[in-house]
Amino acid sequence: MEELMYTKKSAYEKAPEKTDAAFAFAKGYMQFLDDAKTEREAVTEAIRQAEACGYKPYTIGDKISVGDKFYLNNRGKSVYFVKVGSEAIEDGIRITAAHIDSPRIDLKQVPLYESDGMAFLKTHYYGGLRKYQWLAIPLAMHGVIVKADDTVVDVNIGEDDSDPIFYINDLLPHLASNHAKEPLATAVKGETLNILCGSAPLADEESDAIKKNVIKLLNEKYGVTESDFISAELSLVPAAKARDIGLDRALIGAYGHDDRVCAYPALRALLDLTDDAHTVMCVLADKEETGSIGVTGMQSQIFTDLMEEISLNLGANPRVVRGNSICLSADVTAAFDPNYADVYEKRNSAILGSGVAMAKYTGARGKSSTSDASAEFVGKIRNMLDRAGVVWQSAELGKVDEGGGGTVAAYIANRNIDTLDVGVPVISMHAPYEVVAKVDVYAAYEAFAAFCR
Ligand code: MN
Ligand code: MN
Repeated sequence: MEELMYTKKSAYEKAPEKTDAAFAFAKGYMQFLDDAKTEREAVTEAIRQAEACGYKPYTIGDKISVGDKFYLNNRGKSVYFVKVGSEAIEDGIRITAAHIDSPRIDLKQVPLYESDGMAFLKTHYYGGLRKYQWLAIPLAMHGVIVKADDTVVDVNIGEDDSDPIFYINDLLPHLASNHAKEPLATAVKGETLNILCGSAPLADEESDAIKKNVIKLLNEKYGVTESDFISAELSLVPAAKARDIGLDRALIGAYGHDDRVCAYPALRALLDLTDDAHTVMCVLADKEETGSIGVTGMQSQIFTDLMEEISLNLGANPRVVRGNSICLSADVTAAFDPNYADVYEKRNSAILGSGVAMAKYTGARGKSSTSDASAEFVGKIRNMLDRAGVVWQSAELGKVDEGGGGTVAAYIANRNIDTLDVGVPVISMHAPYEVVAKVDVYAAYEAFAAFCR
């Protein structure tokens, strides 16, 4: 009966011998989380790791040969790593695709003002976040400012223990009796997510003295003016490092597991690959949280251009190469949470610690917007994972008609590439501080490694 039944087992039960390796792998991942809180920082750090493994910069139009290891840096915000194998390129490219943008609070282009003893920065949140979670927590500012002379200034304030941090005010309980009765979804308005950024006035100034002081300090530190915000990308992210959660240290708490928890294992699987047969690509995409649109999103033409360049350089028909390519869309899914059991259908939910999760389809309400991998492709990947001894589970995000979500899978599948969602289960997805299990992160690494070789 054991062989006839599908039963989900925890990684600790199924592969206890891997726990130490999983805990060791988590150390590198947690360092990556701290070093790469935005897509720009993730691109920089991923390239640093790839260069250490012999990967070279590539620009569309450069020559490509068998044996090459290169990366295409797309505007510093998305990146494509490629290892060209010795097998015929017509057999297709093995692609892993994760995203490196995460929900956060972006500054508006004219953000700075003062009111009643405080200076604030106006914001427009990025991605699907529950606004109340971002109040009254320490925030750090990351990003770039492009000055009037086109020079780019990198900004990173709030990560060093000696740095100041930023903050969004919340209402005290003493005055919140009416506010507390409002629905969670609407109680905190987008226009109240203003960043507290100063309170001391500039001496001898009659009006806007606090705001002027903030501008003066920014000018002293970065050489910028107020109008330089117009050509800036500044984001507020939680000013907290990745930490072990629980006395057994088996979980990782961090900002932005979605989707660095798949990006890092997918990247490491490629960089650690010793097999030279297959051509393998690892995509780290931007803009997934806002629809994968734009020059750095997964829907950008640059992805197809790169596949065509690889094909043409190796003397193959790009359409044949694309049709024979396969992809694992490496993105997170929701882990079943017994504290909110009523939104899940447990039989089909990912269970924390039971390995990397495979989702045949995503989408919401009648499978809307899903690419829905074919049974044949699911079968192929399932067998591949089993042969490699990977701890994996089948998963769907939440109850039917409860909600749902999408990934980059559809945008790759639309290009005639078989694509399946495989990723790490997350507790409190999209919260400022999310939770994953170390054994699941390691299972994801093993899954992507098996796929690459
Ligand atoms: Mn995601
Ligand atoms: Mn997400």
